[in-house]
Amino acid sequence: MTDVRPDHEAVIVGAGFGGMGAAIEMKRQGVTDIAILEREDDLGGTWHVNHYPGLAVDIASVTYSYSFEPNPDWSRLFAPGTELKAYAEHVADKYDLRRHMEFGVVVAGADWDDDAGVWTVRTEDGRAITARYLLTATGFLSQPYTPDFPGIDSFEGEIIHTTAWRDGYDFHGKRAAVIGTGATAVQLIPEIARTATHLTVFQRTPIWVVPKIDFPIPAPVRRLFGAVPLTQKAARAVNTSLLEALMVFGVLHYRQAKPGNQLAALLSKAHLRTQVRDAGTRRRLTPSYDFGCKRPTFSNHYFRVFNRPDVDLQTSSIVRVEPDGIVVDDGTKVEIDTLVLATGFNLWDVNFPAFAITGRNGRDLGKWWREGRFQAYEGITVPHFPNFLTLNSPYSYSGLSYFTTIEGQMRHMARLFGEMRRRGSDRFEVTEQANERFLDRATERLGDSVFYAGDCSGSRSYYFNQHGEATLLRPQSTLSTLREMDSFPLEDYTYA
Ligand code: NAP
Repeated sequence: MTDVRPDHEAVIVGAGFGGMGAAIEMKRQGVTDIAILEREDDLGGTWHVNHYPGLAVDIASVTYSYSFEPNPDWSRLFAPGTELKAYAEHVADKYDLRRHMEFGVVVAGADWDDDAGVWTVRTEDGRAITARYLLTATGFLSQPYTPDFPGIDSFEGEIIHTTAWRDGYDFHGKRAAVIGTGATAVQLIPEIARTATHLTVFQRTPIWVVPKIDFPIPAPVRRLFGAVPLTQKAARAVNTSLLEALMVFGVLHYRQAKPGNQLAALLSKAHLRTQVRDAGTRRRLTPSYDFGCKRPTFSNHYFRVFNRPDVDLQTSSIVRVEPDGIVVDDGTKVEIDTLVLATGFNLWDVNFPAFAITGRNGRDLGKWWREGRFQAYEGITVPHFPNFLTLNSPYSYSGLSYFTTIEGQMRHMARLFGEMRRRGSDRFEVTEQANERFLDRATERLGDSVFYAGDCSGSRSYYFNQHGEATLLRPQSTLSTLREMDSFPLEDYTYA
């Protein structure tokens, strides 16, 4: 126990679903003096930042929500982004989180003071905020990536990154280009194609797309979910089990269950065949890497866009951007008025961590991860970083819905803080041995996954870090992850 009184018991960085889940759990554990610092001007994380046309969840909403806070009012099986944002606001109100939140605060760094037993969180506006506990919930997909195309600054039309959408932007009369064919582009492209005079899609790597079974949830069903929550719980269990089967058999146990993975690829190819008439276009839209190397996506509208006479698929490499268009490596120039960058996020260079974090003995987390290996015990704590919970870290992403990850981490926090209470301590640190054991086990298990046992060459997947290691996903079923979060050996931590 230390005598120093910091400004707050806990600082949580990020007011998205991860940060809010962490705050709810901290309060349950009796840590109530919490400051939640958020760089954006409102809460909701991804669902506040992203508001491009077509935005919707790609995990059915019964599962993409906190299990302890079901929402019977989702309008569709896959709710649109606006409903997710509204749900985030509802959670903030119900769990009284808003009064902890401060918006527009960019955290520049955090340093551990071992003598005082506190973290000092430095903000870009020059403040130093101290806290006993530091929790980072800065997201995986939160640092937008804009490629440095030669000449991009000379472009005279509009450039819009999907994370900085201009609401109401009108594509009527515009020749548009979208660079990128990830999950964001798959949702956005059909919307732009509807209104733009002409659309060129610049694809570097095709993506596996499977049909999306989506429909409005009828009012009587919503009423039933509200009146008998068990029914929505059952729907959640069925949907979560399907996702789990996809993840465990399609991705994590590829070596043992290759036919399951191949079946998913066949489904996507059949989907493409029914949607796109031209064989050459179909060939160009077909990935050359195994299903699951990259996060697959769901859409009934994406492929068929390429049948339209006013949409072109451009697969030649981009050489440069000129004031009025994009030049590709066969010399063709595509003249455009609006350039949409659906180029995703930088995970491994500027995230992990999202700002400089220095632990005990001056250990720099980012440097340590980059110069050694990316690692975090149970995807949440790191040796040499006392009283630090890193919610978006290597091996933390469990299952397909982010809420599985969040709730697993909440369970971990409950067990850890329960033990600290029992011991009357206010300091924890994971041991080097426990961390190494977890890393070894994860590394070994990943050997069976599609990332290592399959063919992911050419997938350019963000599941792989700059060392070529697939260190994002936790290679375990969500059930065993949740069990482990409830039962990890308490002696894996030291307490003081
Ligand atoms: P992404 O999957 O990283 O896709 C980025 C796209 O930009 C890729 O097609 C990439 O091509 C392309 N790109 C990047 N740099 C390029 C360059 N220099 N030249 C040409 N192309 C370039 O990003 P995202 O589509 O934003 O999706 C990220 C993740 O967000 C998804 O995987 C999903 O987990 C999540 N997401 C979820 C939802 C949802 O739930 N509804 C919606 C959207 C996104 P390469 O593949 O060749 O690198």
